[in-house]
Amino acid sequence: MKTKRFRPERVNVVTLGCSKNLVDSEQLITQLRGNDYDVVHEGGDEESDIVIVNTCGFIDLAKEESVNTILKFAAIKQEGGIEKLYVTGCLSQRYKDDLEQEIPEVDAFFGTLELPALLARLEADYMHELVGERIITTPPHYAYLKISEGCNRTCSFCAIPLMRGKHISQPIEALVEQAKSLAARGVKELMLIAQELTYYGLDLYKKRALSELLDALCEVDGIEWIRLHYAYPSKFPLEVFDVMQRQPKLCNYLDIPLQHASDTVLFRMRRQITQAETRELIRYAREKVPGIVIRTTFLVGFPGETQTEFAELGAFVQEMEFDRVGVFQYSHEENTSAHDLVDDVDPEVKAERAGTIMEIQQIISEKKNQSLVGTRQRVLFDRIEGGYFVGRTIADSPEVDNEVLVPTKGNFARIGDFADVLITDANEYDLFGSIEIQTLN
Ligand code: SF4
Repeated sequence: MKTKRFRPERVNVVTLGCSKNLVDSEQLITQLRGNDYDVVHEGGDEESDIVIVNTCGFIDLAKEESVNTILKFAAIKQEGGIEKLYVTGCLSQRYKDDLEQEIPEVDAFFGTLELPALLARLEADYMHELVGERIITTPPHYAYLKISEGCNRTCSFCAIPLMRGKHISQPIEALVEQAKSLAARGVKELMLIAQELTYYGLDLYKKRALSELLDALCEVDGIEWIRLHYAYPSKFPLEVFDVMQRQPKLCNYLDIPLQHASDTVLFRMRRQITQAETRELIRYAREKVPGIVIRTTFLVGFPGETQTEFAELGAFVQEMEFDRVGVFQYSHEENTSAHDLVDDVDPEVKAERAGTIMEIQQIISEKKNQSLVGTRQRVLFDRIEGGYFVGRTIADSPEVDNEVLVPTKGNFARIGDFADVLITDANEYDLFGSIEIQTLN
């Protein structure tokens, strides 16, 4: 049995990278608080005794940011500003030995699956009764729900399986319990996240079970929006579109990274899909779920990407008119199979190609946003900023998508609540509007 501390030590947990890392930090904070630690997330200047940096190791830029953050806290430790510095997460998993050599100021490094070891180092118990419980660091009305960990795909450019291991699905019952607990605390919107959503269930139930999970989550009282992030297009479980049709809580929204459109590049990327198959999937989704919002990401500058292959991608983006597009520039990651290829696209060309795709998308995005002017949209408000209530429609996920801005002057909205908004103006990435006064009959 653990003895209570007389002076709770203050821990600052710093999170880098994606929403999956954020969920890991939320679980870590829950465990530490269960052990009487005083924990802040992304603490500012207030004093902390211990700092834990949860790192990202996805691509060069992310690695650089993680290393710089560790170095910043290592310097603070050297000056006596903190007592202990620990590092966890993807970068630590991938480069533990190198980091131990290079940054000896860090007291210990832990991998992505070493939460119990990290807690033990802090003389904290791994509290089984808190598994599945977590504080949320997002605004109280939305939360990420990580339905699985790891990935069994073999995309040649991707280092994630090296850091996160094989796919492990969480049981449906455990996820429903987590969703109920979040809903009881005021969460209205769940973002389902995973490295790869569509594999869900294959390890645990020996069949794809994303639709069953979605049906079960839609039964949770209090949850009003559920949206899907990071689906792999090859062998996509089409029954998910049936669930979108029959379950109003499941947003007609799909985040499906396509990575490229040229068959030769897709083959070298080992994506197990062709452009024709991708087109068929998008056509089917749009036919089955009219108005479905499709977010995707592309990777430019993959080894050997010729101007012709890139032009094919540009034409595809132009023609398909996706609702949301993000672009990454290829990063040559050791121990991936693409690392055996020559990273022969000049960095300037990579940047230029990324810019070209975003320019194409900007015009599409503006056109789509303009078409909403004059319509009424149900908006969930996230915050007040710069004289505006800032919210999102059902077509927009937090952090990455469009926002709806309503002037605070002359309008009233409650943060964390829905309101009907008349869209009065739009630009390429934002909508502007006013809240309609609702009359009671
Ligand atoms: S499906 Fe996604 S996470 Fe998995 S290997 Fe491919 S790119 Fe990486």
